[in-house]
Amino acid sequence: MYDGIALYEVSARVEEEPAMVLEQASHSALAAVAPTAVVIGGGPLGLNVGIALARGGRRVLILESGAATARDAAQDFAADELLTPDTHHDPTITTARRLGGAGVLWGGRCVPSDPIDFTDRPWLGLKAWPVGPQDLDAWLGPACTALGAGDPVFSDPIPGFSPSTDTFTTDRLERWTNEPRAHVLHRDALKSTDGLSVALGITVTGIKRDAANRASALSIWSEAEGAGTLPLPAGCDVILAAGGNGSTRLLLNVQADSPQLFGGAYGPLGRFYMGHLDGQIADIVFDNATLHDAMDFYIDDHGSYVRRRIIPSADIQEAAGLANIAFWPVVPEISEPTHGSGALSAVYLPLSYPALGRRLIAESIRQRHVGHPPYRRLRHLRNLITDPLSLMTFAPWFIWNRRFAKYRLPGFFLKNPGRRYGLMYHSEHLPHADSRVTLSANRDRTGLRRLAIDFRFSGEDVASVLNAHEVLDDWLGREKLGRVIYRTPPEGRADLVLSEAKHGNHQEGTTRMGHDRTSAVVDGWGTTFDVQNLHVVSTSVLPTSSQANPTLTAMQLGLRLADRLATA
Ligand SMILES: Cc1cc2nc3c(=O)[nH]c(=O)nc-3n(C[C@H](O)[C@H](O)[C@H](O)COP(=O)(O)OP(=O)(O)OC[C@H]3O[C@@H](n4cnc5c(N)ncnc54)[C@H](O)[C@@H]3O)c2cc1C
Repeated sequence: MYDGIALYEVSARVEEEPAMVLEQASHSALAAVAPTAVVIGGGPLGLNVGIALARGGRRVLILESGAATARDAAQDFAADELLTPDTHHDPTITTARRLGGAGVLWGGRCVPSDPIDFTDRPWLGLKAWPVGPQDLDAWLGPACTALGAGDPVFSDPIPGFSPSTDTFTTDRLERWTNEPRAHVLHRDALKSTDGLSVALGITVTGIKRDAANRASALSIWSEAEGAGTLPLPAGCDVILAAGGNGSTRLLLNVQADSPQLFGGAYGPLGRFYMGHLDGQIADIVFDNATLHDAMDFYIDDHGSYVRRRIIPSADIQEAAGLANIAFWPVVPEISEPTHGSGALSAVYLPLSYPALGRRLIAESIRQRHVGHPPYRRLRHLRNLITDPLSLMTFAPWFIWNRRFAKYRLPGFFLKNPGRRYGLMYHSEHLPHADSRVTLSANRDRTGLRRLAIDFRFSGEDVASVLNAHEVLDDWLGREKLGRVIYRTPPEGRADLVLSEAKHGNHQEGTTRMGHDRTSAVVDGWGTTFDVQNLHVVSTSVLPTSSQANPTLTAMQLGLRLADRLATA
């Protein structure tokens, strides 16, 4: 999101030279690698897990469907069928079929899951994950390094701020990556790690199994040779890291030929599709200057930009029956020229031209912030003229800190004397079996069936968001910290939450981890219940969605699995 304002997908704007030159390998050349681990997918998770496995002594082959840069022909593989366009973005803008994956689009916001996410939450009917936070702790530092987000420090109490109750915490941090593109961040490791090969333009279309139900060969496809087979040497592990939807799609295609796999046709595979509910239904006014001043982005002593989130405590989540949620203040909607700010209009205007805006930020984020036509560009131009000072001070400051400074500025938060802001929420999307992906009848050029995406929010999701606003307003008032000012009367708020709710960037839940094969696809290591040498490293293994953005937790899980496989 452009939260406050996070221009964080600007990294996607310039098509850079490939970080490395990789040969388009023939099918026989791939077989000659004789890998002891194959990673399917060259996004942030696949690349980092591949590097970790190679450093651990495995001979690793990463198979990436796309090229080193964006190509329409490869991106077409992501053109899944969208049954619910009101709730889910077009899948071709929430994925990137290229080296680096959606890392060329992502916000770079790194947030660990909270202890409460791992536990039984009877008030929501949720069961504990098969792993606890203590199982993942050792991989928090490596995951931050893998994502270029500094040290694993996620708490920073506000000096001089001590409300009498801890109904909400204000000291929890999100860390922002300094380089969102994993293939650029790890350019040297990808070039020079012994035992690591990366093949571009190779799409995996199937997983063959032997009599012992181990993955024994991969069906592959390339533009040059069409369909082929990559035999897997004995002892080889397959790590499926093809993105949340890409990984689920491949498993569903495998299941179509072997319906008993992965919990069977009525089992968990493809179900419980989650993202987050985010948006604004209210403003926040800060009466407390210390809290207000602590809400901006800053560089801490641990190597990246950070920002505070306002999060309800575990106790109040239970007492009020809430799903997990985070709040933070944001600048006024940039599309709304009544803000009068030359700086905000200067951000808005280029984004309002689709061809230009797409080069500046990820398309799903652009659409969210420019809104629908008619674009009131003349009103925005007037803001540039009537408020030149903010424009002149903002533009050089932003460009310098975004492009040239040591730490990459993720966005900006323009303070105002009235201390009134939009109140952004980022709420857990509860797992519902009928929010799901299935196989469509349509196939792509490789012959693989595409997904049909049926992504749903529920009344429970909406009620929790509304309830959390009430609890926050109550706490702010009791502590004399500020207040929540709604944008609509009570009867219109549920509809407003629903109208704001649209996702698909965070692809969670559809290969969920759990305790057994009837309720889950993988165990707490990410290993599939049904095929012992097939593992999934993806946000899609997360069984609940937290208030946290998912990539950091998925990276912890992936690096933990890599360490286990390296020593196996
Ligand atoms: C606009 C946007 C903003 C986001 N912001 C954040 C954020 O701030 N914080 C956060 O935590 N997360 C964020 N995310 C999510 C984040 O980008 C993903 O969680 C992350 O990229 C997942 O990494 P991955 O490697 O699992 O998958 P991907 O990045 O999707 O990469 C998968 C790779 O697999 C390849 N592939 C797919 N199928 C096959 C196949 N069959 N054979 C071979 N290769 C295949 C693809 O080409 C791709 O390169 C955002 C996403 C988007 C779109």
